[in-house]
Amino acid sequence: MQTLPSLETGKIITSQPTFDTTIKRRKTRAVKVGDVIIGGGYPVVVQSMINEDTLDIDGSVSAIRRLHEIGCEIVRVTVPSMAHAKALAEIKQKLQQTYRDVPIVADVHHNGMKIALEVAKHIEKVRINPGLYVFEKPNTNRTEYTKTEFDEIGEKIRETLAPLVVSLRDQGKAMRIGVNHGSLAERMLFTYGDTPEGMVESALEFIRICESLNFYNIVISLKASRVPVMVAAYRLMAKRMDDLGMDYPLHLGVTEAGDGEYGRIKSTAGIATLLADGIGDTIRVSLTESPEKEIPVCYSILQALGLRKTMVEYVACPSCGRTLFNLEEVLHKVREATKHLTGLDIAVMGCIVNGPGEMADADYGYVAKIPVLSLCTGIGRRLKRFQKTKG
Ligand code: SF4
Repeated sequence: MQTLPSLETGKIITSQPTFDTTIKRRKTRAVKVGDVIIGGGYPVVVQSMINEDTLDIDGSVSAIRRLHEIGCEIVRVTVPSMAHAKALAEIKQKLQQTYRDVPIVADVHHNGMKIALEVAKHIEKVRINPGLYVFEKPNTNRTEYTKTEFDEIGEKIRETLAPLVVSLRDQGKAMRIGVNHGSLAERMLFTYGDTPEGMVESALEFIRICESLNFYNIVISLKASRVPVMVAAYRLMAKRMDDLGMDYPLHLGVTEAGDGEYGRIKSTAGIATLLADGIGDTIRVSLTESPEKEIPVCYSILQALGLRKTMVEYVACPSCGRTLFNLEEVLHKVREATKHLTGLDIAVMGCIVNGPGEMADADYGYVAKIPVLSLCTGIGRRLKRFQKTKG
């Protein structure tokens, strides 16, 4: 603990312990999805989803390969029918023959267990949506569910889900319990409201079924299109799991985030807020654009938070009246010349007044020295040493 003179009184005060400058991730169990591990302290995994119809075998193989080649580590596909589930066997085989095996997660759309059981034979992970496990007929006059009704439906869910859980358990495969705010089951809505609590209870109900069958290879998601709802749901889930002694990894995402700049900012607002809290083990940025566009956004979020380093980190000032050259143009040139040097921090600063100090953390720095720019190699490290020597 440091002692510092108070600016107002001049008296010596004792400062609070310093705040962490690295993210402390919530401890989670390691969930294996093919050769990728989610949770367990492993790097945050990047996911996306192809748009192709899974019946289009060649189109799906190409799309999965394209995504995997640019860094998507787990690829999701949609499985609306038994024919789609069977097509996955062929897709997997073609991937292995023409490229390599890629971990696949299959989105099963409703409680059709036959489809889920078939697809579970061919891929590494099945995503189910608890909100689609509906057994009662729509009744517009209903205003509540009694405890007995609630529990009876719970028992039907258990009977329907159990064979899939057993299949995944026995094959060493994984499941994502993917709750969506927009498709919460009516009985959860009536009992807990259209709230983060309803989303969390929905996930917990499915987790308990899995645990009763000794299956723990589970990842949880609680997506919503409104960022405050999504953030609250994940925070509540993490707290509830901590209280219950559960350590399942969390898959983060903002659904229906849209496209363009706002879609990226909205996704980042939700995902990065939680990651900064230490919550989240795998992410998907959902954009209304081609899935290839999602991967750079995922990596930028992870790099900006210091969770993964997949590109050069550029530190550049915004420029101001002191800047005597076109900083934007120079930054562009420096980036073009150095973008292959993954792992380095490179600073580009507009003047020698504040530039050297601001680039203290960088490995290399470019700073203005009229009439030409000078390259200050290793300036950051030297500065750090200098600062340390000075205490
Ligand atoms: S580093 Fe220099 S040029 Fe850049 S914003 Fe700061 S004072 Fe202005």
